[in-house]
Amino acid sequence: MGIKTPPFKEYEKWTTSRFFSFIRSSLRRSFTRWPPKYEAVERAKRLKPKGNVGRHRFEYQCSECKKYYARKEVEVDHIVPAGSLKSFEDLGGVAERLFVSADKLRLLCKSCHYKVTHHE
Ligand SMILES: [Zn+2]
Repeated sequence: MGIKTPPFKEYEKWTTSRFFSFIRSSLRRSFTRWPPKYEAVERAKRLKPKGNVGRHRFEYQCSECKKYYARKEVEVDHIVPAGSLKSFEDLGGVAERLFVSADKLRLLCKSCHYKVTHHE
């Protein structure tokens, strides 16, 4: 988990970093139900070409490599990263960058998502 941060003042059994990762994961969970996220997914979706149907009817295009994947192989990416959440001062900015319109979101396959995230 990295460097141990001081206890969180309102609940000293938790460190400050544990508290902020708790808040961050709550925001992330809310993001999964954010309507523009579904719009971004819909935009990248197409009906599978015939002869290649299998279990699922649709496939999704990665914005980077342009290849098509099953839904579980693509992830929604923020073009502008939400950034780190380490203090209450970060909270407004993180929420603002997280809950953005569909045009600021894109679908990436897992391998492109990994590359993009570890490049930042
Ligand atoms: Zn890709």
